[in-house]
This record gives sequence, structure tokens and C-alpha cells, in this order.
Amino acid sequence: MDWHADYHRYSEILTFFQALAARSPDLVKLKVFGLTHEGRFLMRVTIGPHKRSEDPDRKRIWLQAMQHAREWISGATVQYIAESLVNGYGRDPAITRMLDAVEVVLVPVANPDGYEYSWMGERLWRKNRRPIQPGVFGVDMNRNWPDHWNNGGSSPDPRSDVYMGPFAASEPEVQALMNEFRATPNIVGAIDYHSYSQLLLYPVGYTLMPSVYQPQFRELGQVFQKAIGDQTPFVPEQSSQLYIASGGAEDWWFGDQTAKERGGRIYSICIELNPSERENMVGFLLPPSAIRSVGEEQVRGLMAFVSYTLEHPLL
Ligand SMILES: [Zn+2]
Repeated sequence: MDWHADYHRYSEILTFFQALAARSPDLVKLKVFGLTHEGRFLMRVTIGPHKRSEDPDRKRIWLQAMQHAREWISGATVQYIAESLVNGYGRDPAITRMLDAVEVVLVPVANPDGYEYSWMGERLWRKNRRPIQPGVFGVDMNRNWPDHWNNGGSSPDPRSDVYMGPFAASEPEVQALMNEFRATPNIVGAIDYHSYSQLLLYPVGYTLMPSVYQPQFRELGQVFQKAIGDQTPFVPEQSSQLYIASGGAEDWWFGDQTAKERGGRIYSICIELNPSERENMVGFLLPPSAIRSVGEEQVRGLMAFVSYTLEHPLL
């Protein structure tokens, strides 16, 4: 059976990555780095030749998907990307070059509790599943990160789909992701995959004020689009132009605190995958028949992102 012909439950996704690691032990490494509120594993996948991992200057790209439970295509896409990179190393010159230049660190499902709930309860569930009040569950993980938390575009109401949580980084999943990110040296770029609308969003989200790096991010958007191809337009814009949102991962990765800790800024973007804004009847329910074509495009997009990031380091 073609794995990429369908969406899969969390336990199957873990098995998929275990099989990938077993098949390519010199390229793929798995690590459990935390637990969700309901006790599920949070897993990261490292992809790249292990013999280079010991290099203290080894550069890394951080990818994550599925902070939002209902955005199934984001999980399916990073599974496709991971398999393509593993299959391509040593065979496809561009992929080989990329993995020789950077190690890919991937969190395939950032919100496993919410994701499982979207299979068993509500398909359009968005948040995690931590109980907040009797009968009220979940924090919007992508409003919970500690950069300009509670600075607009999030809600203090636990019933809201964009509930920011009781305090910044209150959620065990967000804490674990932050710790793991901090423990990973030399990250030069990070992508948070979401759906939908076909957008490439760049920092910052909490204010309409452009960052001084806007020219680079705009150019990155063009390079990304060129790699994807005209048949699937991705609009690049500052996150806040879509709507103001504070407490997002993308802002924390890019933000002052992270830059201070790491000694510099990194490229941080959020990709809103297919379908386009116009196809709002499909929206989060992208049929699984689209997984392969979206995955193919995003492999190309990722390679463009990595090249641009390496060629235009931020200060
Ligand atoms: Zn999302």
C-alpha cells in the first residue's frame, strides 16, 4: 500500500518513522523529547549523515508540523518530505548537497493529543487537550509561545479556539518544543507547517510594524514560489498582514530572546499549505489524493528555503 495515499493515526506515524530509521540507520535518528498532557510521546526525527553530526559547526534546519490538530496535510507533508530526503540522499544530487550542508530536525506531530482527538471526536479540533475548566479543554499552542504573549489576536477565554493559555508557555507540549529547540545548536532556519491558504508567512505576527529583515523575507518568498512553480501560488506576507496573532512559534524562533540566546537571528517562517483561501469549502479537509503533489512541491520549497538561508545569513 502507498503510505502517502492516506492520512494516518499517530501510532502509525510513529511506526512509519521507526521503519524509516530502521531502513536508513546512518541517516535517520529518532528521539523522544517530551510527553503530552495525555502522556503521548513527543518525537523528533533527525535526518542527515550521522558522521557529520559530531561537527560542532554543523548547521541545522528545524521543521515542525501539526501544532493545530485539524491541519492534517501539514503532518502528511512532513512525512512525505522526510521519506523523500532519506530516499534521495546519495541518489539525488540536490538532496545530497542539502543534507551534506544541513541536518534536518523534524517534529512531525507537535500536538499528538489534539491530533488523535480530531480522529476520534471532532475533525475540526484545533487546540491541545489539556483540561482547563470542567468540560472545557485545550490551549491554542500557537498562541502560547513566550514572545509578546497576549499581545493581540489571541483570547483569554478558555472556550475560544485561539485561547492563549493561563500564562506564556503554560503547555507541556510548548515547553518541550522550546527545550528541544534550545538544546539544538546552530539552527539557521525554521519552518512551522500549517494549513490552509497557500501563504508563506514571515515574522512578526504580533504587530504590523515590519521587521528590518523584511527585504530578505520577501526575496525568500519569491525564491520559494519559483521552486514550487506557478501552478500553486504561495503569497508571501508578514504574518500580521493576514491577521494579528501573538504567541506564535514563528515569532519566538525569530524573537529577541531567542536571538540573544543563540547569538543571532534565524530565518523563521510559517507555511500555510494547500488549498488556497478561495477553496474554503475544502479548507482543512484536503483529500488525501493531494498528499503526493503537495509533498513534491514542498520538497522543492524546502530546498529553496535552505539554499536561501545559507546564502543570506541574518545578522
Ligand atoms: Zn494552524
